[in-house]
Amino acid sequence: MSRTDYQLVIVGGGPAGLTAGLYAARGRLDCVLLEKGALGGQVLSTDWIDNYPGFIDGISGFDLIDKMTKHADRFGLETRIAPVTSMDLTEEIKTLHLENGDRLTARAVIISTGGRPRQLGVPGEKEFAGRGVSYCGTCDAPFYRNQEVAVAGGGNTAIQEALHLTKFADKVTIIHRRDELRATKILQEKAFANDKIEFLWNAHVDAIEGENGVDRLRIRYNNGEKSTLEVTGIFIFIGAIPNNEMLPLDQLKTDRGGFVITDTEMQTNIPGVMAAGDIRSKNYRQIINAAGEGAVAELSVEHFLGAIV
Ligand code: NAP
Repeated sequence: MSRTDYQLVIVGGGPAGLTAGLYAARGRLDCVLLEKGALGGQVLSTDWIDNYPGFIDGISGFDLIDKMTKHADRFGLETRIAPVTSMDLTEEIKTLHLENGDRLTARAVIISTGGRPRQLGVPGEKEFAGRGVSYCGTCDAPFYRNQEVAVAGGGNTAIQEALHLTKFADKVTIIHRRDELRATKILQEKAFANDKIEFLWNAHVDAIEGENGVDRLRIRYNNGEKSTLEVTGIFIFIGAIPNNEMLPLDQLKTDRGGFVITDTEMQTNIPGVMAAGDIRSKNYRQIINAAGEGAVAELSVEHFLGAIV
């Protein structure tokens, strides 16, 4: 019979959860990390990571997670593959319900369930993911030096990442479904002033096509006209979706998009409940800040439990 009562339960085993777990195990907290699928989250499906400090030649997503997992293992972190279906966080002792019918209790909870990029849902998107279809400019832009690429979306992320892409690509075509950007004026001005950026207004990506990688996009305009755009990559920035299905959204304060709001110490509106990583309401979603937030969240838990003052 497995244990059911802990000081801390961490929900989600990506970089934020694994780092929180490493800190908790090393801090000798009585803790378990619950993960619904495989440890690693979105990083597992990231082919190559070139911007994680310390790995000068880059590292694959698989290897980075393998190292993070072994590092937490070294301090004896208990991990379980056990999807959480619901939680009650209002009482001093928090309750978590698992898919297998088990019920865990804890004095503190770290929510690190992550998020996922919203997808276009068009033919070719899944097939070419990691081979010309990207959801992270900071990660993949350097692979497109001297090439022509497209960006889907008109929000802050799309415009900011399009500007970043111009440092590498020869041409960046922004495809937006309306004739006006959602991004802030200052970003718009920068994009309009950049010679490498072109716009396709009132346009949708209907299909992503190619042989060994992306070669072209099929474009459809709001007036019914169609065209083809030859590019070797498409960066899709049409918003993110939080993995919040198991969270008590009537108890936790979230933003309009459903991301959990915390203070700078990762404390949510509920004492003893912290959030870290992509599930947090914030502007930048990177592996390095997910890991950093995991560390901060765990230290806040130790402070909350009176383990440190
Ligand atoms: P966002 O603001 O929600 O923008 C998403 C964009 O994608 C919009 O232009 C939207 O078009 C488009 N879109 C949505 N669904 C689509 C679909 N199915 N097909 C085609 N286009 C679609 O998302 P975000 O840019 O990721 O930003 C998320 C949050 O982070 C925002 O609050 C943003 O302000 C913030 N952020 C801030 C900064 C900064 O301050 N520097 C940087 C990055 C992000 P419509 O405009 O037509 O709806």
